[in-house]
Amino acid sequence: MRIVFLLFIINFSISIYAQEIKFFGEAKPGGIVIGTGEKIVSAALNNTNLQIDKNSFFLFGFDRDASGKYLLKVKFKNKKIQTFEYIIEKKDYEEQRLRLANKYVTPPKKLKSRIQREALLMKSARLKIGKVKDALFMEGFVYPVDSVDIRSTFGLQRILNGKPSNVHNGLDFGGSEGDSIRAITDGIVCIAGKNFFYNGNFVLLDHGQGLTSVYLHMSKIMVKDNQKVKKGDVIGLVGETGRATGPHLHLGVQWYKKRIDPMSLFELKF
Ligand SMILES: [Zn+2]
Repeated sequence: MRIVFLLFIINFSISIYAQEIKFFGEAKPGGIVIGTGEKIVSAALNNTNLQIDKNSFFLFGFDRDASGKYLLKVKFKNKKIQTFEYIIEKKDYEEQRLRLANKYVTPPKKLKSRIQREALLMKSARLKIGKVKDALFMEGFVYPVDSVDIRSTFGLQRILNGKPSNVHNGLDFGGSEGDSIRAITDGIVCIAGKNFFYNGNFVLLDHGQGLTSVYLHMSKIMVKDNQKVKKGDVIGLVGETGRATGPHLHLGVQWYKKRIDPMSLFELKF
């Protein structure tokens, strides 16, 4: 509520010059905000320039652990500047305790080079992110599975076999082996990875302007690198490859390196 209130105040105080900007989404930890309007020439969040596509769409997001003050400056063709202030309050996340095969918590030495090689492949694939300026996501988002059964939410602090481990940077959907996995919005296949130690078979999609989604643990991959996909297209099948406790889909979303709650996309109303 506090954020909405602030936006209102700021908008109001400069309404004499107001240009039309529409915002979708919420400024919160793990949140995504999409803006659009007429005659926008540039936009910057805390002095980092955002990409604006030909339809004047731009997007920005807030990491899982984001907090503090963020300033969005939007510049229009007539040289007017509109500023929006967001105050983000740090969010606390719950713990989740899981039991996994020991090799997935403390991988044996002989797997080290494989894990490093896979991490490098992922890193070099991610170097492509940000080059697509078009807002491929402008048609909106759909769930990646036909029957939605959320098994694990975004941001949980994981305790694996009693040891504090990495954060759960995604959303887990329950499913059966072979269920369809769909692209949450239009995109380009950045990498389709086969049999990675942690990810299993997976697909990383680039949705433009730094927004990505990744789909892990597939039993089958149905797309190829650089292939264009449309919202709702089947890109793979649910499985339990990699570090998984039973068949499910792990969906991860990022804006560049910021960890985004996938649910914040499904809540967007265009
Ligand atoms: Zn997961």
